[in-house]
Amino acid sequence: MANFFEDNDDIRFYVDKGIDWAPLVEITEYNWRSPDGFRNVDEAVDFYKGILQLVGEFSAEQIAPHALEIDRDGVLFKDGHVSFPPLLQGIFDQIKGLELHGLCVPRELGGSNVPLLVYFLNSEVMGRADVSVMAHHSFHGGIAMALLMYSVHEGTTEVNRAEWRIAKTRFEREIREIISGEAWGSMDITEPDAGSDMARLKARARQDENGVWRVTGQKIFITSGHAKYHVVIARTEDAKDPNDSFAGLAGLSLFLVPAFEDQADGTRTRFAEFVGIEEKMGHHGSATTTIAFEDTPAQLIGQRGEGFKLMLLLMNNARVGVGFESIGLCEAAYRAAKAYAEERVSMGKPIGRHELIADYLDEMRTDLQGLRALAIHCAWHEEMAQKLRLRARYFHDTDSVASRQDAKMADHYAAVSRQATPLLKYLASEKAVEMARRAMQIHGGSGYIRETGVEKLMRDALVMPIYEGTSQIQSLMAMKDTLMGVMKNPQEFVRRAAQARWLSVSATDPIERRVARIESTAYRATQHLMQKVATDKMKSVAKKPMSTWTSEFFKNWNPKRDFAYAMLHAENLTRILADAAISRVLWKQARKFPERRELADRYTERADLRVRHHYQLITNGSPRILQELAGQGDADAARA
Ligand SMILES: Cc1cc2nc3c(=O)[nH]c(=O)nc-3n(C[C@H](O)[C@H](O)[C@H](O)COP(=O)(O)OP(=O)(O)OC[C@H]3O[C@@H](n4cnc5c(N)ncnc54)[C@H](O)[C@@H]3O)c2cc1C
Repeated sequence: MANFFEDNDDIRFYVDKGIDWAPLVEITEYNWRSPDGFRNVDEAVDFYKGILQLVGEFSAEQIAPHALEIDRDGVLFKDGHVSFPPLLQGIFDQIKGLELHGLCVPRELGGSNVPLLVYFLNSEVMGRADVSVMAHHSFHGGIAMALLMYSVHEGTTEVNRAEWRIAKTRFEREIREIISGEAWGSMDITEPDAGSDMARLKARARQDENGVWRVTGQKIFITSGHAKYHVVIARTEDAKDPNDSFAGLAGLSLFLVPAFEDQADGTRTRFAEFVGIEEKMGHHGSATTTIAFEDTPAQLIGQRGEGFKLMLLLMNNARVGVGFESIGLCEAAYRAAKAYAEERVSMGKPIGRHELIADYLDEMRTDLQGLRALAIHCAWHEEMAQKLRLRARYFHDTDSVASRQDAKMADHYAAVSRQATPLLKYLASEKAVEMARRAMQIHGGSGYIRETGVEKLMRDALVMPIYEGTSQIQSLMAMKDTLMGVMKNPQEFVRRAAQARWLSVSATDPIERRVARIESTAYRATQHLMQKVATDKMKSVAKKPMSTWTSEFFKNWNPKRDFAYAMLHAENLTRILADAAISRVLWKQARKFPERRELADRYTERADLRVRHHYQLITNGSPRILQELAGQGDADAARA
């Protein structure tokens, strides 16, 4: 039997030894206090492995062989109703039968209490078979976990501390319905006039005379948007002017909005209209819908004005999810390319033995393994941060030593994942496109033909750098976080930069020297951007009265104007930061597991050259574009 987990040595390395399971299992198992939980780490990891084997076989046997048919048939829309063709519906019936939707949900809420990390690994394995099937599947467990997280955040979850279990949570009914496979959810942000720029969202929510919230507006491009449960972001606060504290993002709130209710007599009461589905170039097994709300009853999540912050919580996990999904597609592309290159002969030998193609394949394999290392590193830290916060708040005495320790560790892990998440989303999605393109090229003319299946990978991959925050937005976030980090603690930045520089010449291990050189390049690139930003700011300050210089320089920063040079190079910096992050993770792995040295060597060899190239672009870039844009600034201001 084919099995997408069993045939993947790299994923199995992580499950067998590469992942630091002990702390993650312990916290997931409520410090072993759960009466129906596992007794030790090995028992738990065996269970996780069993799930991965199950999903690996299901993906290889029940999804992958039908991927072309799923792609051809798409989803159906008639009379305001979205449905799946029988084959696709059959796959989701099986997923429901296997009880995969509730994997990460705590046992006491009907789930299997598996770490999110296992769920993400499953996403990769399933994504290798078909990313659109994986996407619809993810809007079950993903939304159920988001609802639990929201309830925890707003304080409507209660725990039984004696038994270390959740006793009550606000959205329990919805969570149970979703994980049973009877319903699913969606994340409704995008509107016709606003995507990346959420401050422009127009959908509104108001409270009626009975205090019931009602949402009105249209949301477009919503994945699995024929859902029953919609997590909708809408404007609740009116701003008097752009400086009002409720202007822009601060005026947004988050809602849970049921789109319909099925009645006992088989009829459906609708609260919102499914306007239609998009005809897309790929992702044909998942519905991308337009939905219209008109005074639709809604439940406020959290506080008024917290919408953007809460949506980011959901999007953060979703971005890590897109990272794993993209890696699944990279794996499919690499395997298809490799198999074809071994079999197809040209000019006297298999094409895989021609230098150019051999180099393509080596780069694909190396990048794929590097991305997986970053994804697992990022997901582990994010999950530990979330669970430590939960333990600190609910299971320890307030302000106890244990609670403070958990909170401190949570902050540390959250900082690591905050740094890694945009890098992962950026690089994995961009590499998915690049590898699908390579796979097509390696297939020659056959790659352009539907039957081969690789052009489908290309079509499916192209949306990955677009949804859940585009590549440009990810790189702006990574750049902003990096520069703000330097501003907050310049001494630490200087210390680390000096250490990297010193290690790049003094470390005895050649791989460590190379990793330090890559890191040193990342610091130098950051420093260059900081210097440019500061110099440009000084120039603009110098034009103002001298008495205002101090406050202008230290207080009046306008991100859109003052960071122009850094924004121009955000993507170059992101590529460097991502290579540096992956190199660090792989080097740490190599020190612990000698068999991983070869990978660390292979990855850093390529990364070392890449970061130098991007560093050159940052330090020698032409100012022409910025000068042109500066001239257009007034016109933009007038339009805004
Ligand atoms: C198949 C599919 C599924 C989707 N699923 C969902 C979903 O489930 N829920 C949901 O809410 N949305 C969903 N979307 C929408 C998606 O998240 C948006 O398309 C995406 O956020 C980009 O927004 P936009 O299309 O409005 O593009 P815009 O925001 O108009 O951006 C257009 C281009 O400009 C760039 N750009 C914008 N601002 C800047 C800037 N400041 N600096 C540099 N470049 C910039 C962008 O990166 C992009 O390249 C989906 C889209 C697709 C295609």
